[in-house]
Amino acid sequence: MEITRIFEFDAGHRIPNHHSKCKNMHGHRYKMELTLSGNILETPNKSFEGMVFDFYDVKTIANEFLETLDHAFLVYEKDSALLDFLKNSDSKFVIMSKIPTVENIILFIWKNLEPKFEKKYNKTLKIKRIKLWETPNCFAVYEG
Ligand SMILES: [Zn+2]
Repeated sequence: MEITRIFEFDAGHRIPNHHSKCKNMHGHRYKMELTLSGNILETPNKSFEGMVFDFYDVKTIANEFLETLDHAFLVYEKDSALLDFLKNSDSKFVIMSKIPTVENIILFIWKNLEPKFEKKYNKTLKIKRIKLWETPNCFAVYEG
């Protein structure tokens, strides 16, 4: 069984080597569809009886990490000019080991969320898919 919860966060980025306007500093309202898969829990009289995972807990756990990205600038660790600027500004930023394309942002989110979900009360629970919208027309999907 799969369950999906939708999240949104605002973040800035730039694609330093891009041939066109994506090399400029700009921001997006990212929309993320987080899909978990697992068995339906059957423990009688528990709050989560009949669920794969409580949507409330999905929200709490994912937001713990997503709050680090929200209203932050996502900067590639080798984009030294921008990194120097951000370090000298009173600004929130997150350093990424890869260029912050929507594809790499998904991998970054996946790496950080996976350990938070896989050891919870449902032993079969795992992240099945992350779909990340960068604009209303563009998204990427990763399935592990
Ligand atoms: Zn962009």
